[in-house]
Amino acid sequence: MTAGEWRPTLIPDLVSPDIPFMRSVQDVLNPGVVLAFSPHFDDAVFSAGGLLSAAGRLDSFTVITIFGGQPPSEISATASAYHGTWGDLDSMVEVRRAEDRAAIQLLGGQHEHWDELDAIYRRQDDGRWLITEATPTNHPTVHAASERLLLQRIVARIRRRLSEYEGGVVLAPASIGGHVDHARARDAVLEAVGADGRETWSVLLWNDLPYATHYDDAPPLLPPKYAVGPSFGVTIERDDWIRRIAASATYSSQLKGMEWDGVSVPEQIDRWATQRGRRNPLETFRVAEISGRRGAWKRS
Ligand SMILES: [Zn+2]
Repeated sequence: MTAGEWRPTLIPDLVSPDIPFMRSVQDVLNPGVVLAFSPHFDDAVFSAGGLLSAAGRLDSFTVITIFGGQPPSEISATASAYHGTWGDLDSMVEVRRAEDRAAIQLLGGQHEHWDELDAIYRRQDDGRWLITEATPTNHPTVHAASERLLLQRIVARIRRRLSEYEGGVVLAPASIGGHVDHARARDAVLEAVGADGRETWSVLLWNDLPYATHYDDAPPLLPPKYAVGPSFGVTIERDDWIRRIAASATYSSQLKGMEWDGVSVPEQIDRWATQRGRRNPLETFRVAEISGRRGAWKRS
C-alpha cells in the first residue's frame, strides 16, 4: 500500500459471501521454506499475517519486500503531489523499514528489503513517467505499459532466491484492487516459479487486504499461461490472529491514510475476517497454476 493508491467504491454485499471451501494451516504449509513476496512494506502482513504467524510458530518464514527502494532525487509532479501529504521524505523509507522489521519480528519471521522503486517513482521503458494524475496506480494503461526490464530484473532476483532452497510455499498477491506493483510482484513470482520448473514449489496468492474488504475479488487479468483457482479460506488460530492484528498495527505511518469511515485498517481486517469466518477469523487465498503444472499442491 502506498498513499498513492486510489479509493475504491464500497461494495457492501461482498463482505459476507460464503467461502466455498476451507483448508487448515497445516494443509497449506507444505514442507519446506515459506517465502512471501510483498510488493510494499505492509502488504504481506495485512493480507496473510495470520498464516505467517502460524508459519513462524511452526518454523519460520521470510517476507521479501520488492518495491522498498529510496525515492530518487528526480520525481514526477504526481509523485511530488503525493509527497505533499506525507511526512519527512528523507526518513520515510527508513521509518517504513523499521515498522516492517518490528511487524515481522512479532510474527516470528525474517525480513528482506529490496530496492526496486515504487510505481510512482518509475519511468516506463520509453522514459515516460509510469504514474500520472490521469493514470493512477490501478489504471489499465499502467498495467499495459512496458516494464519489461523491471520484470526481467525482479524475476531474476526471485529465481536466485528460489535456487537456494529445495522447495516450499511461495506467497504473493492476487492483486485484488489492481495496484500495478501488486500485479508486477505477482507476475514476477509466477514467471520465476515457472522458469524454476521444479514442482517442489506451491504458489499461493493472497487476496489483498484491506482491498478485498471493498472490492469484487476477481484479480486483474493474468498473463495467458497462468490461472488461479477459486478463493479458499484458512482458519487462523486465536493466538496467531491476535499477533497478526498487532503486527498490522505496527505500520503506523500508513494507518491514518487508510482509515475507512474512521475505521482503522486492523479493525477493517478484523471485522471482515471474523464475519467471513463466522467468528473464527480467516484469511483467503488462491492456488496459482503455472505453465500447465499444478505444483506440489496437496489436494485432499
Ligand atoms: Zn501495496
